[in-house]
Amino acid sequence: MTTAMRAAVLERPGKFKVGAVDRPQPRLDEALIRIDRTGICGTDIHIFHGRYAAEFLPMIPGHEFTGRIAELGPHVKGWEIGQQVVVDMNIGCTTCYWCRRNEVLNCPDMQQMGINIDGAFAEYIAVPARLLIAAPENTPSEILALTEPLACVVRAARKSRVTFGQSVTVIGAGPIGNLHVQLLRNIGVAPIIVTDINQSRLLMAKESGADIAVPPHRLKEAVLTATQGRGTDMVIECVGDSTLYAEALEVMRKGGHLAAFGLTGPDDEIDINIVQMILQENSIKGSVAGIGEDMHDALTLLTHHRIKTSPFTGAEFPLDDIQTAFDTFADRPDDLKTQIVM
Ligand SMILES: [Zn+2]
Ligand SMILES: [Zn+2]
Repeated sequence: MTTAMRAAVLERPGKFKVGAVDRPQPRLDEALIRIDRTGICGTDIHIFHGRYAAEFLPMIPGHEFTGRIAELGPHVKGWEIGQQVVVDMNIGCTTCYWCRRNEVLNCPDMQQMGINIDGAFAEYIAVPARLLIAAPENTPSEILALTEPLACVVRAARKSRVTFGQSVTVIGAGPIGNLHVQLLRNIGVAPIIVTDINQSRLLMAKESGADIAVPPHRLKEAVLTATQGRGTDMVIECVGDSTLYAEALEVMRKGGHLAAFGLTGPDDEIDINIVQMILQENSIKGSVAGIGEDMHDALTLLTHHRIKTSPFTGAEFPLDDIQTAFDTFADRPDDLKTQIVM
């Protein structure tokens, strides 16, 4: 006999159905999590509009979640019922070439909660116990639900090896852009220059720690002035708009690094002058998710108050109103992060 739970199933692009579904049963090595809350990610918005992972619908999206252990499979050791946790959403096969090299994100059989298997806009989720991360009991769930988006940002910084004293341009001051700014500030990056088309988001970027925040038409001049005409050591594209790469490269110094972060359309391409890339020894690197150590490090930064979380909390909808939360998302640019409360 299966028990029911409430969940938001995205039946087709643009249409959620909130209602009773079968509650997942934890397998031998799994934990059942009673979810407290789940953040809405830019990726969820892409899924909602049918621009990403549409082939997996109907499905329960949601991957930025936190909750408490409700049940443990018989083979799971070292965890307790009621313990507060966050969860690494990326399930590798554990045995392929990439999983063995700790490059799980390239595992051909990788499953991601809320992307290609059911996720966390629901009361419960069953997850492999090896992906659990213990969260301090006294850290509120609205902060813990920021672990996954911050982990993505941590990974980008790690992959690009950005370090203190370097200068960085951040393109896009949405939730991810603002998390980048805060992390870069922690690292000791200077100056941090941010651009966005939205004026209130530029103000938020300043509050997050940006030294300079300007609209796109003023970016090049601002960067060149701040860097003695060189351009910044690194540029992070957080919008996911391939047409912005040309200007990203324009504000990057010779020998600089471009971090491709914002998810573009599946067929979007950019023009790169290869000889310039070679002669200037420029580099470009993508990063797609927070995983493993990124999740642990993000949680550490959050629980030790290295990230100012107030800009990312407060916009909440109950699970029953998830359709409204998604329908109104674009009209609420000042809500940097929206969370669904179960
Ligand atoms: Zn996310
Ligand atoms: Zn694998």
